[in-house]
Amino acid sequence: MMDSDDAKQYENMLLGILAELRSEMNQEIDETAPVEVNGSMGRVSRGDAIQVQQLALEMKRRREERILRVESALMRIRNGTYGICVRCQDPIEQGRLNALPDVLLCLECAAGSPR
Ligand SMILES: [Zn+2]
Repeated sequence: MMDSDDAKQYENMLLGILAELRSEMNQEIDETAPVEVNGSMGRVSRGDAIQVQQLALEMKRRREERILRVESALMRIRNGTYGICVRCQDPIEQGRLNALPDVLLCLECAAGSPR
């Protein structure tokens, strides 16, 4: 079980990540706007625009997933289960949490099960 000073530290890290992800999200709203069909762009550049849009949508999707993970990590801090592997219930390595505070699995479980 993690002591409350450590938990507070991870909570601050997670809140920082969350703020960063949300500000990125606000900046990228325009890039995921629908591509103009009857624009003056040629066929090729319109295809490029669609690719850029799909990439932006993919990044947006990943960002939303990460936001959910960070939020659930914050919830786990509050209910005292933070830092516990969701699969094997062993404590997650401290260095791993420092690098990826929203991680759900310990190193062993993550290595044994590529997502
Ligand atoms: Zn595990």
